[in-house]
Amino acid sequence: MADIQTVGIVGAGQMGNGIAHVFALAGYDVLLNDISQTSLDKAIATIDKNLERQVSRGKIGPEVKAAALARIRTTLTLSDLGKTDLIIEAATERETVKQAIFADLLPHLKPSTILTSNTSSISITRLASRTDRPEKFMGFHFMNPVPVMQLVELIRGIATDQDTWDSLHGVVKKLGKTAASAEDFPAFIVNRILMPMINEAVYTLYEGVGSVKSIDESLKLGANHPMGPLELADFIGLDTCLAIMNVLHDGLADTKYRPCPLLTKYVEAGWLGRKTQRGFYDYRGEVPVPTR
Ligand code: NAD
Repeated sequence: MADIQTVGIVGAGQMGNGIAHVFALAGYDVLLNDISQTSLDKAIATIDKNLERQVSRGKIGPEVKAAALARIRTTLTLSDLGKTDLIIEAATERETVKQAIFADLLPHLKPSTILTSNTSSISITRLASRTDRPEKFMGFHFMNPVPVMQLVELIRGIATDQDTWDSLHGVVKKLGKTAASAEDFPAFIVNRILMPMINEAVYTLYEGVGSVKSIDESLKLGANHPMGPLELADFIGLDTCLAIMNVLHDGLADTKYRPCPLLTKYVEAGWLGRKTQRGFYDYRGEVPVPTR
């Protein structure tokens, strides 16, 4: 199995900062990259705040928090990640963005570096085929919020070798999380099931069957879901939800995966959910207010 000590993370958004948090707590040295200094600064502030919450709840000591923060460095230069043992790409859910990142990384990589993507839906086999190491390439799908959620999906591309799978399985164990193995088909397991449900909730809203409030309350109280589907969509990011529905629709060529036009409209408005303070709810005030 590969000896993994250093981890490079590309993309410091809501997933990238959570991934950096859990790897640093588990003792890995982390190098976090983004194209935006603002995103990097925000990521460090978020990690600090989330670690502090763990301290105040007695889950970790203040010295553990300080040591974890000290293990995270940031950089705007992608090639700095070339010397790390494991790279986790967690940038925007757009295939052209991800392919450009891997293409730019390739000339700087050690031969032994394992490449992974945290993509929610895009073909691992296709991303891997554009690199010089499809056998050392895997889907490494963390759930949001990363410090809280137990599951990590491990997605094997057609060429992924056993040693790479074993190495990542070992990493998941070291993080104290649980791995689920998924085959490389559009949106894998979790989002193959979750995203059509969210899309159907948006159709239910679009067709006027229920309001934002009644749809979310119905699923919370009637199906025992901890969050309503529209609240969850805002939490995930509506751009990410739409991107995943498009991958399902294109990849499986079945009209049942047709993204709801209302979801598209919210994304076109730039109302992407919590990260832009407005989605199916408006988060700019004291309490979230439904936007429909
Ligand atoms: P986000 O919008 O919060 O963050 C994306 C970050 O990527 C931004 O900071 C952006 O500046 C950065 N970025 C864009 N292009 C880049 C480039 N070329 N190089 C470096 N950084 C770049 O998105 P997110 O929710 O963190 O999602 C990131 C990935 O994780 C996506 O592939 C998404 O599908 C996946 N994912 C998301 C969730 C979720 O619930 N949001 C869950 C699991 C997986």
